[in-house]
Amino acid sequence: MNLTARNLDQYRLVETRLQERLDSGATRCNLCPWRCKLTHGQRGFCQAHVNRHGTLYNLSYGILSAIDVNAIEEKPVRHFRPGSRVLSVGSYGCSFRCGGCHNLEISWGVTALDDLARGESTDAFVTPRELVDAALRQGVDGIAFTYSEPAVWLEYLLDVAPLARDAGLYTVYVSNSFVSDEALELVAPWIDVLCSDIKSLSDDFYREICPTARVDQVLGSIRKARELGIHVETRTNVIPGRNDSLDELYRIACWVRDNLGADSPWHITRFFPAYKLSSVPATPPETLYAAREQARRAGLRNAYVYADTGCDCAKENLPIHVYLDKDAGELHQVKKCTASCCGDEGVVLKKYESGGVS
Ligand code: SF4
Ligand code: SF4
Repeated sequence: MNLTARNLDQYRLVETRLQERLDSGATRCNLCPWRCKLTHGQRGFCQAHVNRHGTLYNLSYGILSAIDVNAIEEKPVRHFRPGSRVLSVGSYGCSFRCGGCHNLEISWGVTALDDLARGESTDAFVTPRELVDAALRQGVDGIAFTYSEPAVWLEYLLDVAPLARDAGLYTVYVSNSFVSDEALELVAPWIDVLCSDIKSLSDDFYREICPTARVDQVLGSIRKARELGIHVETRTNVIPGRNDSLDELYRIACWVRDNLGADSPWHITRFFPAYKLSSVPATPPETLYAAREQARRAGLRNAYVYADTGCDCAKENLPIHVYLDKDAGELHQVKKCTASCCGDEGVVLKKYESGGVS
């Protein structure tokens, strides 16, 4: 089956862009460092990619969980086209499981992705052309891929970004930077701005939210994005008792200075209690200013404090159909893949198993 994503006008599964058949019979997804090895019916850790009869497909192509219009500074990005506005969009799926994530329904998207796999989803399907047209109607200057992790939705991003560029729009990629080198090389020609988290400099911190993640993978990916010519800005969400020691904050600032430059923006945001970290208090503003002081000590010239802002979350957004200029009933019709190879039950719902991952 040859799926030409650019011409899709209805929802269907789209082949995962980076996949590799292994001698074992499994197929490996190479979009992010999980490199999930999947057999028929299995979905990867992010739940957004599934193996059907040896080929991997993205379940969430064109599926929007949230949309909004924002100032680029809200992403946060401050040194690229300041004063301009973006259409922010996200889907479902993330390669991490942060204990303090505010976006669970969107970022992990467990229910939504299950519904898609079963052919029962009523989420909005929006073609790349429709999305770019929506951005132009809103009069924004760019499109930001955010809310969920863009690396697990790369097929869509890669179809939207060239159309956006043709239309004179820039693109912003808000990420945890847990992405493979191959995926980064694929998107680099099409992405103008990366706003990446540096969550911590501790492997233990990363392992808690993603058992396979290491700090050097994330930092290496941020450095590589810059080498590939993307405008890079970084953000640290400071969490009391987790990553708020002055020493760690100083070392993050030093890393930014040494690898991205003394003028590179570092955004210091505030943690607000959520999910597994509900009992952790919101970050005292003094801690955020102390972090900025550490940046000054490191010689980092552009550290910004956001005492009222945490992650880039989708909150109180208008309904999607408002932006799409479409009838809500039509936009939210039940989504079933139009290919017939998996029958009436949708894709098999076997989930990620740790044994399936290298
Ligand atoms: S987590 Fe998702 S994107 Fe990452 S390798 Fe696994 S299936 Fe691919
Ligand atoms: S905080 Fe970000 S990286 Fe962590 S689970 Fe949520 S969306 Fe994913």
